[in-house]
Amino acid sequence: MATTTLSDAEIIGKNAGTKTAGTKPAATKPAPIKYVYFFGGGKADGNGKMKDVLGGKGAGLAEMTNAGLPVPPGFTIQTEACREYMRNNAVSKDVDREMQEALAKLEALQGQKLGKGDNPLLVSVRSGAKFSMPGMMDTILNLGLNDQSVEALAKRTNNPRFAYDSYRRLIQMFGNVVLDIEKPVFDEIFDAKKKQKKTKFDTGLDAKALQEVIAEYKKAVKKHANRDFPQDANEQLVMARDAVFRSWQNDRAKHYRRINNIDDMLGTAVNVQAMVFGNLGETSGTGVGFTRNPANGTKEFYGEFLLNAQGEDVVSGVRTPVPILELEKIMPDVYNQLRDITTRLEKHYKDMQDFEFTIQDRRLYMLQTRNGKRTGLAAVRVALQMVDEGLITKEEAIFRVDPNQLYDFLVPRLDEKGSKVEVLARGLPASPGAAVGQIVFTADEAVEKAGHDATKSPVILVRAETTPEDIHGMEVAKGILTSRGGMTSHAAVVTRGMGKCCVAGAGDIDVDEKGREMRVKGQTFRAGDWISLDGTTGRVIKGKMKTLDPSPDDPELQKFMNWADPYRTMKVRANADIPRDAIQARTFGAEGIGLCRTEHMFFGEEKIPHMRAMILADNEKDRRTALKKLLPMQRKDFEGVFKAMDGLPVTIRTLDPPLHEFLPRREDLMVDIATLQYADAKEKKQLVSKYRDYGAKAVGDLKKLMPLLLSRVEQLHEFNPMLGHRGCRLGITYPEITEMQARAIFEAAVAVAKDGVKVYPEVMIPLIATVNEMANQAAIVNRVAKEVFKEKGRTIEYLVGTMIELPRAALIADEIAKEAEFFSFGTNDLTQTTWGFSRDDVNKILPTYLADGIIKQDPFAVLDREGVGQLVKMATERGRKTRPDLKVGICGEHGGEPSSVEFCYQIGLNYVSCSPFRVLTARLAAAQAAASEKLQIDSGRTK
Ligand code: PEP
Ligand code: MG
Repeated sequence: MATTTLSDAEIIGKNAGTKTAGTKPAATKPAPIKYVYFFGGGKADGNGKMKDVLGGKGAGLAEMTNAGLPVPPGFTIQTEACREYMRNNAVSKDVDREMQEALAKLEALQGQKLGKGDNPLLVSVRSGAKFSMPGMMDTILNLGLNDQSVEALAKRTNNPRFAYDSYRRLIQMFGNVVLDIEKPVFDEIFDAKKKQKKTKFDTGLDAKALQEVIAEYKKAVKKHANRDFPQDANEQLVMARDAVFRSWQNDRAKHYRRINNIDDMLGTAVNVQAMVFGNLGETSGTGVGFTRNPANGTKEFYGEFLLNAQGEDVVSGVRTPVPILELEKIMPDVYNQLRDITTRLEKHYKDMQDFEFTIQDRRLYMLQTRNGKRTGLAAVRVALQMVDEGLITKEEAIFRVDPNQLYDFLVPRLDEKGSKVEVLARGLPASPGAAVGQIVFTADEAVEKAGHDATKSPVILVRAETTPEDIHGMEVAKGILTSRGGMTSHAAVVTRGMGKCCVAGAGDIDVDEKGREMRVKGQTFRAGDWISLDGTTGRVIKGKMKTLDPSPDDPELQKFMNWADPYRTMKVRANADIPRDAIQARTFGAEGIGLCRTEHMFFGEEKIPHMRAMILADNEKDRRTALKKLLPMQRKDFEGVFKAMDGLPVTIRTLDPPLHEFLPRREDLMVDIATLQYADAKEKKQLVSKYRDYGAKAVGDLKKLMPLLLSRVEQLHEFNPMLGHRGCRLGITYPEITEMQARAIFEAAVAVAKDGVKVYPEVMIPLIATVNEMANQAAIVNRVAKEVFKEKGRTIEYLVGTMIELPRAALIADEIAKEAEFFSFGTNDLTQTTWGFSRDDVNKILPTYLADGIIKQDPFAVLDREGVGQLVKMATERGRKTRPDLKVGICGEHGGEPSSVEFCYQIGLNYVSCSPFRVLTARLAAAQAAASEKLQIDSGRTK
């Protein structure tokens, strides 16, 4: 076949300059939209650059066709038709007309008629959006088969079994996707037939048995969809097209877009393509592969295939496929041709390719090529290799890694030293890292146990195989274990994208999802039992293993970051409250602390009683007594943090949270007071220990203490604590708190400075709304600083600034900057106060808002550029009007989220601050933001 001798220039495509509707010169009338793009016979209407219009798959098919590669011909209905469908619940007449024209062209090219005659044309109908969304949308194969054409196919192929199998697959897929009939309806019929025929495998059903299955499938369609399976092939095509458009809006696709930040309005294209069959016998097959190893980046031809199978058999994980290298032994010519084509495709696209192919009677057909999804580890390695190979520049390499993927370098490993390792089974090392958790068998159970934000119990989701419906459970699970499926199964592909540990295809494990147990090596494990996974080696291990913290000093990661970092103009700091976290953050490259939440320091065992005494005090004298006890402890904490950050700035925030957070709940206290009356000795003892921190030493103390406590809790009770007695309001009503904290900060600073530590304290006042609040607190801090410097005979440079967390503060930022020497945006509270969403309760509303498209993203996760972002921008500008050199940063959760970091760069912030584990991500996001502006590279990131 001529394809193997093509030059790269030819692969680039003869039609690269093809005019599209969008590129025509401006005319008086807008150019009519071209809805359908044909490809076939070595020529395509579109090209590889048209992903917006044709989707990734359609653009790839056009590009490959133009390059003369063996692609089954067909046409792509562009994304605008999908958007039309979303708007009007139907496509326009023009779409129908162009589709019929393209179909006629395809029929002429093939010398066949759709679903008609002795040699009927059959087509596949597949989705394909701009960004790959594996398995999220729907596909229909073998379209065109009906009661007549199936006979023609049987005759023509001389293979009735194949023909009936293809037909039953069509009814099944069509029934599910187009007519909304649940999959189990068909599965039950199919499984019952296998049982009746005493066979375990699909292949055990002969042509007659399959004919019986077809008859029953048709009955099921009639029963559940209230209509017959359509015999008219054209009707099938129209219905399938519309169903694929509708699948853009299904729940799992929406969910996937939300996680991956993909715009809901893009829509999908639909690709209609002449069928080629991988299930024609042992000289046919189908497979998927990568030009490099997607798990670790090794340069090797990598993938798997199945003989005598259709595409979905490989990706669905129903049968476990064979490594692609085996193909070399079975069909060396086809193997060499495939290697040759994919190598060229990689060179052409200058990126690792993920491809799909089908072999029909020893003839190779390429069905798809796209930039392959990969782990963070692989992304970095492939980027470095491609620079070495001269395929891309260092600058391009910077964009080849999604900042969120750098987590992979930070994922834990199993700590096997000194612990018994009982390997239960070995599966495929589908996605690296380690995961330890309690077994759950369904996605819903995973969410229930792990919590929506995965902060409750760690769970391992165990399934025979995963499907796109499991996505919400996969998201919260620590790891995924499947008993079926290969390296390109749904579980493997999705977890790799998530940077989550996965062991796939552990065939020795018998997973009984209904019975909620798994059996392996004669042992039974139930929901709630602990297991450990090693996604790097594929081992499934009994029990709760310890894990090792990952080391971020991988030399290839360092090399990569050394290319990216020089572009970065924004600093990256960490939010850290204790020396351990500060040290950790520094190893990840933090350039200071952007937020030290001092209240977190008060939760230590020896501190909390004094903190509580301070809160319970109803007069200044008692409060000062308690604060005096806290002072040395707080000073020691600050010394630790300053030492860890030697040479770097440390922003310390004065006390912020509502005080009742440190006290028992009012309702609990009332119950305990009632219980005390009837409590036996044991219960009384328990109450003493519960209230020890509040001063209970013996049972006798409880009677007086508990009502007192209740009355103070009632005094402190607020209906809306988030808007209440917190932030600078605490320091203003109880100035002695700010005094004590300022003293601890400056005494610590002087003490470590005397030991040679370079210390740059920045005292930050939270929740400022007026310049007078700022002036009030700054005056206290400055007075105490002066006192301490005088007492200790040493002066330290420091700043006093504020958090901008309230819209009012943003509006009058020019005023506030008169007193504040720096700003740091507390975008958690600023989002809360701008939207009027309680940050603690928003999850009651958010899922519906997101599902209904009322908002596109969780504004607490991704900075809302249009609203909150405008306040951040405006406050920065206004602040700098007053103080041109005003240092401005962000310390809300958004400081470690790539799109928010990009926004912070665009509006000229000096730094972002985020949790230690997001520092690497923020560094790369900040570097990419700056580099894309400097190099004029637009969204070069692999999606
Ligand atoms: C914020 O509000 O963004 C912030 C960093 O402060 P906290 O989360 O402690 O309220
Ligand atoms: Mg806050």
